[in-house]
Amino acid sequence: MESYDVAVIGGGIVGMTAAFFLSKTGKKVAVIEKNKIATGTTANSFAWINASSKAAKGEYMHLNARGLSGYTKLAQTFGEHPLGLNPCGQIWIAPKNDAVRYDELKKRFSLLQQEEYPVTWVKSKDLQILEPSINYMGEYEGLLSFSEMCLDAPRFVHFLSQQLEDAGSSVVENNEVLSLASDDSGNVTGLLTANGEIKATQVLLAGGPNTPELLASLTGFAGFANRFPVRKSPGILITTPPLGTKRLTRRVIYWEQSPDLHALPHFSGGWRIGSDDMDGVIAEEDTPTNRKFAANCLLKRAREFLVGIPDDLTVEDCKITVGIRPVPDDGQSIADIFPGTENFFLLVTHSGVTLAPALGELMAEFICTGERPNELETFSLKRFPGFS
Ligand SMILES: Cc1cc2nc3c(=O)[nH]c(=O)nc-3n(C[C@H](O)[C@H](O)[C@H](O)COP(=O)(O)OP(=O)(O)OC[C@H]3O[C@@H](n4cnc5c(N)ncnc54)[C@H](O)[C@@H]3O)c2cc1C
Repeated sequence: MESYDVAVIGGGIVGMTAAFFLSKTGKKVAVIEKNKIATGTTANSFAWINASSKAAKGEYMHLNARGLSGYTKLAQTFGEHPLGLNPCGQIWIAPKNDAVRYDELKKRFSLLQQEEYPVTWVKSKDLQILEPSINYMGEYEGLLSFSEMCLDAPRFVHFLSQQLEDAGSSVVENNEVLSLASDDSGNVTGLLTANGEIKATQVLLAGGPNTPELLASLTGFAGFANRFPVRKSPGILITTPPLGTKRLTRRVIYWEQSPDLHALPHFSGGWRIGSDDMDGVIAEEDTPTNRKFAANCLLKRAREFLVGIPDDLTVEDCKITVGIRPVPDDGQSIADIFPGTENFFLLVTHSGVTLAPALGELMAEFICTGERPNELETFSLKRFPGFS
């Protein structure tokens, strides 16, 4: 039976990045993934790396900013292209005649400035130069976050997988973890999987949106399935095919208006488009008709907001994806050791694309030293009822 220092459950961006940092400390790691790596939420993410949407969120904002600098550091070592990074920057735009949203954006700007986050305010004329393909219906101004990026998340995960293999660790696909293995005193000794037992000194669960159900089956406490403080939040995106010479947006764009939209230049050569209110009309187990309805609404809106979408482009030409966000009840990350255990750790978060390098590195430190880094203090389970 193979034996590892750490077994990581889940081959999404969160588990794979933690595994990468663990392996950098010399640990022999096995990532166990029930499907193929990077096919869960990570594959269906908008994948905008940012902290500007978390202004005023204190430690959580700092953690996201740490995620951004984590990518910058990785890019300095490996280069942007192998990681799938596009350092394109991002702009929030708001119409000046919508006083509420315009003021909100101004407030966000000043909060980010107070945090010394790299942002600048963009007047209407400059906005038109920076993003000429936006259909400006009136006077708009914007907030430019020039250090933000977008990520080809599956590419990044596959890059990490190669790094792990090169370092002598293992990435095991198509093997479902069924439960924890433990000794007579209840200490976790590894994993029982569909393909047999895997011995590990420590275990990290990074199972994404199914964390509550997974915890129930791993620990045998069925109640976790309903009571663990993580909910599922579905999101729909459409990705256009490559549009030839047309460039819809150069950066990640968020329209701070109602109805809203966000769009970014996708690695496939097309544009990835979503909106918060369309996420509200779909469900995890949805009908194709409902998804198509939401996708049509997105394309229609994109046509209104952007110049250059070909008249004959339909949703049939686009890729429609629905991803399930794992969202802890207060919207922030859970990074902890499981109560009552000494070697079973847990990492689950929304904004996992942004946060992966920050949480992965800090969690690796936690697992290796047994001491919780100060930066993770805020993100322990004890803030939730029943875990204090
Ligand atoms: C529409 C949408 C837009 C988003 N936009 C952004 C964004 O712009 N920026 C951002 O930072 N974040 C964004 N997110 C959130 C981000 O994508 C997620 O937080 C992140 O992908 C979660 O990664 P994960 O590794 O935790 O989960 P996953 O990618 O789902 O990985 C978990 C893995 O665990 C595996 N697994 C589950 N059970 C078992 C088992 N029993 N045995 C073995 N393996 C198992 C699953 O198969 C899966 O591969 C978005 C999400 C969605 C849905």
